[in-house]
Amino acid sequence: MSIKENYQRIHGQLPQGVQLVAVSKTHPVSAIQEVYNLGQKVFGENKVQELMEKHPLLPQDIQWHLIGHLQTNKVKYIAPFIDTIQSVDSEKLLTEINKEAEKNNRIIKVLLQVKIAAEESKFGLEASEAKNLFRQYSNGQFPNVEITGLMGMATFTDDQQQIKKEFLTLKELFNELNELNQLKTLKTLSMGMSDDFPLAIECGANSVRVGSAIFGKRDYSKQNI
Ligand SMILES: *Cc1c(COP(=O)(O)O)cnc(C)c1O
Repeated sequence: MSIKENYQRIHGQLPQGVQLVAVSKTHPVSAIQEVYNLGQKVFGENKVQELMEKHPLLPQDIQWHLIGHLQTNKVKYIAPFIDTIQSVDSEKLLTEINKEAEKNNRIIKVLLQVKIAAEESKFGLEASEAKNLFRQYSNGQFPNVEITGLMGMATFTDDQQQIKKEFLTLKELFNELNELNQLKTLKTLSMGMSDDFPLAIECGANSVRVGSAIFGKRDYSKQNI
């Protein structure tokens, strides 16, 4: 199937109110432009360098989301233009984003990435750490960021029950944070990728990150800009 058919099929499957982040990592700007021309404005990349190379070559009204692990020393490169950083996994990183956002005179939207997978390798905050950061933020810390929601990645497995359990855990935390009666509320619950986004939506996701189901399989052997 073509990129156009893939995109239209996925787009058509999403209930109203569910945001699609088209994950374009490893795919060339020509493919991104094609999806943009179909009306998609929100794209996700996981590497700063790749994003920096693609950003000047594409329409400036694209809302770029960073979805991969971000080192604090790289925040300054994307701070002038990034729409949302979905992968905030430490207080140190949030502090740095706030600082760079202030320098650029803007508010950067972020999601707190919470560890829900059973695997050791996945980045993310523990639920208690996410709660603490959200409390500090609610009390006025980090004035140049807007914590808009939570992001999570399920375990890489075929076990649907396991994935569902992990998604529901994040949905519960999302509800819990919104019931703390803080001044701030979370809007976005980002979970689900090509293989599991329908299940994620069933479990309460209102933003999904879909790559290969739109753009095709990723080829890491060549550098695609
Ligand atoms: C690559 C990636 C995706 C998209 O994965 P697909 O399986 O290709 O849809 C989603 N989220 C994150 C964090 C990713 O790194």
